[in-house]
Amino acid sequence: MDGTADKAGEQDSVDVLIVGAGVSGIGAGYYLQRDHPQRSYAILEARGASGGTWDLFRYPGVRSDSDLHTFGYEFRPWRSDTAIADSGSILAYVRETAAAYGIDRKIRYHTTVISADWSDADTRWTVTTEDTSTGERRDLTCQWLFCAAGYYRYDQGFTPHFEGRDRFGGPIVHPQHWPADLDYDGKRVVVIGSGATAVTLIPAMAPTAAHVTMLQRTPSYVLPVPTRDKLNTRLTRMLGDERAFAITRRLNIFRQVAIWRICQKYPDAARKIIRGLNARMLPEGFPVDEHFNPPYAPWDQRMCIVPDGDLFRVIREGKASVVTGHIETFTETGVLLSDGRELEADIIVTATGLNVQALGGMTLTVDGEPVRAPERFVYKGMMLSGVPNFVFVFGYTNASWTLKVGLVGEHFTRLLRYMDASGYDTATPTAADAAMPARPFTEFASGYIKRALDQLPRQSSRAPWRISPTYSADVKLLRKQRVDDPELRFTPAKETVPS
Ligand SMILES: Cc1cc2nc3c(=O)[nH]c(=O)nc-3n(C[C@H](O)[C@H](O)[C@H](O)COP(=O)(O)OP(=O)(O)OC[C@H]3O[C@@H](n4cnc5c(N)ncnc54)[C@H](O)[C@@H]3O)c2cc1C
Repeated sequence: MDGTADKAGEQDSVDVLIVGAGVSGIGAGYYLQRDHPQRSYAILEARGASGGTWDLFRYPGVRSDSDLHTFGYEFRPWRSDTAIADSGSILAYVRETAAAYGIDRKIRYHTTVISADWSDADTRWTVTTEDTSTGERRDLTCQWLFCAAGYYRYDQGFTPHFEGRDRFGGPIVHPQHWPADLDYDGKRVVVIGSGATAVTLIPAMAPTAAHVTMLQRTPSYVLPVPTRDKLNTRLTRMLGDERAFAITRRLNIFRQVAIWRICQKYPDAARKIIRGLNARMLPEGFPVDEHFNPPYAPWDQRMCIVPDGDLFRVIREGKASVVTGHIETFTETGVLLSDGRELEADIIVTATGLNVQALGGMTLTVDGEPVRAPERFVYKGMMLSGVPNFVFVFGYTNASWTLKVGLVGEHFTRLLRYMDASGYDTATPTAADAAMPARPFTEFASGYIKRALDQLPRQSSRAPWRISPTYSADVKLLRKQRVDDPELRFTPAKETVPS
């Protein structure tokens, strides 16, 4: 599947250019070719392989934290009752999907999009790309640009400054750059962090490491969930895997939204329930409130899930422990905390997160004017004010990312159909009230999002400039409502003069 695409014979001009060959880009390709088989398109991918996130991360135990019946594409059943899946299975599923529909043949690997410049006169984007192997730059043009470039930097994970970092004698590893030959058997490992990556890594490393310590500044909500979906198993036996997938998916979407709503409405009750579940799985006398009782309400930040309570199991077995405190400095042999405690370590893992990056790091201009994302409003959660023929995907933080890919993909192809039928060739979100109030892109309080708010576009407080808080709200907005919104300005297609 690695890209060895021959640049010879590739078109310089296509109808749609999709940036990124992860789950979003491959999903976008599917909807486009299903609904507009006559349109030409290409997927530009900076890396030498497809799959994005699911190919990049190689740390022990990498897995989903959503169920695959909702993370999988609506059009391609996830044929397994394993709800929480490892990255290898997800990658295989994404690549098989791309191959099954011939989407893989549209991917141009080793091609980074550097910039895209819209011209009103040509009603086209000129997209400047760089070949990552040769450094060669090349311009392509397209009528629509679809940004499916994910939300974080691939070259560098986020690591805060740690005093004394250079003093530490052993390896310091970031999960985004996991060395294939890192040997942690029989070693003492300190994992700094309390997010999804830390709670995944710890049970995966604990069986062979001497001991793994999760060192966190602030606790997260950690929710045990079953790895296997027993209802799906039964439904598959009764109805076959396609119908079982469709039903399981609907039920899980409903459950995700319901849990999120309950947490928002009754945070104290939700906190109590989660605490009770944690206490039941932790050893007698474990200080649950010190290590598993966050200072914020459930779902104000992304919740961590642990399949079959694996994190709690390794804590019960004494293979892992949790320390909550502030790091004063790294030392030659571990970490010193500000309260004087010292943690001995052979390896330190900084599971401290991602560097959010908007729009794949590319620069955009519209008729020579730079587009600065924080100065733009998001239209229907998928376009930017004042930017013609441009769509992006930013999935849910409180549900499976892919659910949004489906809705945006469908809405985009409906929009194209409407424009074809009406003789339009450009669509530009244009607010009726340019001075409408601005709110941050998301209210979500996770550190990696908060750090990046000043790079992200803004939303407002009314439709279509408000980002839907849930999948069900987006179903109404993107699937049910019309595509010709009064605040989407269309211009007629120019007549082509026969030569
Ligand atoms: C470890 C981990 C686990 C996760 N688990 C879940 C989960 O269980 N459920 C969930 O909903 N979400 C999860 N997420 C979020 C996850 O990233 C998304 O769900 C999803 O995989 C994102 O897909 P994507 O295609 O939008 O982006 P990515 O997977 O990031 O793919 C983007 C692609 O675009 C390419 N690209 C970027 N910029 C450019 C450019 N300028 N030019 C050319 N190519 C470019 C990249 O190389 C990459 O291949 C997880 C994230 C991480 C890091």
